[in-house]
Amino acid sequence: CSIMRNVWKYSIAGQVIFGPDTLTELPSCLKKLKVNKPFIVTDKNIGGSRIGLRIKEVLAGFDYVFWDNGIPEPTTATAIAAAAVLKEQGCDATIGLGGGSSIDVAKAAAILATFGGNPADYFDENKVPGRTIPIIAIPTTAGTGSEVTPVSVLEDEERGLKGGITDNNIRPWVAIVDPLLTLSMPPRVTAETGIDALGHAVESYIAVSSKYLPPDKDYIFGGSTELTEVLAEKAIGLIAGNLRLAVFQGQNEEARYNMSLASLIAGMAFGNSGLGLVHAFSFPLAKRTHASHGCLIGLMLPYVVSFNSTACPLKLKRIAELFGESVAGLSAIEAAGRGVAAIKKLQEDIGIATRLREIGIKEEELPAIAAETIKIERLVRGNPRRVTEANLIEILKAAF
Ligand code: NAD
Repeated sequence: CSIMRNVWKYSIAGQVIFGPDTLTELPSCLKKLKVNKPFIVTDKNIGGSRIGLRIKEVLAGFDYVFWDNGIPEPTTATAIAAAAVLKEQGCDATIGLGGGSSIDVAKAAAILATFGGNPADYFDENKVPGRTIPIIAIPTTAGTGSEVTPVSVLEDEERGLKGGITDNNIRPWVAIVDPLLTLSMPPRVTAETGIDALGHAVESYIAVSSKYLPPDKDYIFGGSTELTEVLAEKAIGLIAGNLRLAVFQGQNEEARYNMSLASLIAGMAFGNSGLGLVHAFSFPLAKRTHASHGCLIGLMLPYVVSFNSTACPLKLKRIAELFGESVAGLSAIEAAGRGVAAIKKLQEDIGIATRLREIGIKEEELPAIAAETIKIERLVRGNPRRVTEANLIEILKAAF
């Protein structure tokens, strides 16, 4: 494959505003975007907390609708309910305030308000016909990177399966990333969302190179590139150095700042390169358990990375170095093993479930999970090692 055939594109949110107390920038953003009446999507937990009070203070004098009926791991019905109120109230922009769940509902509600229909009409890639009403994302977790990604993840209640709307038209117009908003996350939410960010960074870093994906396809997730690799490396280093601190010292402002930065940067990486098998597994697993998205990602990550290590040993060696492991004098494969071990150690230290049986999966379900996973083409194609259904069963058995 000639380097002179390696062509890639890179997209991001319209503007990223990063830093402590940047929530105060919201009124000027709304004015610049000429928004008259924003629709704020959040959940009861955030809405009733100091974060909810703070955004109301910041928006004093503005006409807005505060919709706090969001839920963790939202469904298509959640987005339909939000869009109905948005339209009835005549709002002209959405603001997702919360974790990935609220941001994703804000994205889907913006699509429905602009183009009508149901969220499932827009599942998969490139189905949104054009720009929606403005979407502003204000994350309160440090995990999903949804503030800059082209994705809205919703459970399709008809199919009983999580699905993704993936379209550059739904990258937020503005992302306000204020690390102060993450200080109130309890340890478990910090751990599960933080390891989700690590999953994004690692899967983006080792994703199949853009060189090996067909150049004629207008993929949004176009494989890893020189740019996404730099971003992913930076995010992995930040998470390796800060996630334990953020979990065990929730008020450690430096750790919180660095985790917000890592999650944002990991989103900037994977929101272009795409992801791999860890995320593909998470959808059929989510259907069968009540585990959070981050828990599933954190559980599967070391097993998938171990399976992939022969396909990208030098990248795993680099991951080992980013975790502060000494790899001098080791062969590439030995050093790659150190990378896998460092991820596994972090998973265990912060209390993420380490076995599928712990979250209620039965051994007899593994073949069906593998069969559903292999069909998620947009994620399977990004994995650095080609896979068969038998390989997927092998990985699931290791994780069982
Ligand atoms: P979440 O939004 O589901 O929130 C989890 C819980 O944490 C909720 O109860 C919420 O109220 C609480 N919480 C959030 N911020 C808090 C804070 N600062 N203080 C106290 N409590 C807080 O969690 P998430 O992991 O951010 O989002 C998960 C969803 O995002 C899943 O549906 C997942 O599939 C999706 N996702 C989307 C993308 C994307 O690019 N769009 C990427 C990864 C994951």
